[in-house]
Amino acid sequence: MRAFNFSAGPATLPEEVLSQAADEMLDWQDSGMSVMEMSHRGTEFTSIHEAALADLRELLSVPESHRILFMQGGGIGANAIVPLNLLHPAGSADYAVTGTWSRRSFEEAHKYCTPRLVAQAKSDDGYTYVPPVDMWDLSPDAAYLHLCTNETIDGVEIFRIPDVPPVPVVADVSSHILSRPMDVSACGVLYAGAQKNIGIAGVTVVIVREDLLDRALSICPSAFEWGTIAANNSMYNTPPTYPIYVAGLVFKWLKQQGGLTAIEAKNIEKSKLLYDAIDSSSFYINRIARPFRSRMNVPFHLADETRNEAFLNGAKARGLLQLKGHRLVGGMRASIYNALPLDGVKTLVQYMKEFEDEHA
Ligand SMILES: *Cc1c(COP(=O)(O)O)cnc(C)c1O
Repeated sequence: MRAFNFSAGPATLPEEVLSQAADEMLDWQDSGMSVMEMSHRGTEFTSIHEAALADLRELLSVPESHRILFMQGGGIGANAIVPLNLLHPAGSADYAVTGTWSRRSFEEAHKYCTPRLVAQAKSDDGYTYVPPVDMWDLSPDAAYLHLCTNETIDGVEIFRIPDVPPVPVVADVSSHILSRPMDVSACGVLYAGAQKNIGIAGVTVVIVREDLLDRALSICPSAFEWGTIAANNSMYNTPPTYPIYVAGLVFKWLKQQGGLTAIEAKNIEKSKLLYDAIDSSSFYINRIARPFRSRMNVPFHLADETRNEAFLNGAKARGLLQLKGHRLVGGMRASIYNALPLDGVKTLVQYMKEFEDEHA
């Protein structure tokens, strides 16, 4: 029996996707080979790769002005790869720090330039809001403005990409890509590790506007130069073939669910159910300002933190797994990505009520 897995990543996958991958493990569509064994340049894998690209472009409505790259290095790799690809010739970049992941991006950028901190959103309760964009100290000649539009650890989501021409926006969308329609054209670059809402660890999706493909610093490793990767259709070196295949299965699953508008409606329903349960009780607390509450990662605390262990043990006994909060924030965190079913959230909410009745 499969449990409800609330892990922040690697995270739960659609059961249909896992079943199909299992069925095709030894012999992919009468090719006589596992996807793991295929040449990345052969006709079989080429068809898998092209279908994944086309389905992602369709799902996210990626405009013709933007290229989709399948790379490696994850979100943390991108913290270095972004400045290496974009700093020339401006020399510096703006960073908005609205949570733990954007703070790490800002820190890594110091290896390559003196990045400017344009907004800092930390309060005594941690990262709980996003300051209004008209208060950000933006620089018109920055190479780019970096944001993390869903702070996986803190539970803060940015729902609208700020409009700051001529500076391109670079958005770390690792933990909410494909959770709702997104205005890709509002960004110069979007990047996402796959292990939250796309598939399995090992592939990083990078979406880059064409005119930003030729700005890499000369010290940028060629395997991480977006222009080189784009010119070689993500086949400059061996791409992470199996993670691309799994991502492709997830894209097909999302299309069967009705695409991003349909999945957004489900995500609104799931997150509302959980936030309503937290807000309607003084036993549980979520400190994020309402307009910025993440639909994907819901951190919460028990008012009495001495009960944390009992809460987690009881949850595990009911098949509600990986609810422990990130060590920097403490408490609990329920990651409710696309593949976490509504029934999982209902079971969690039911358990929270019972635990409260028993301990309040
Ligand atoms: C998980 C995550 C990362 C780090 O991804 P890695 O694949 O571990 O490098 C970076 N940014 C965000 C928003 C994340 O959720």
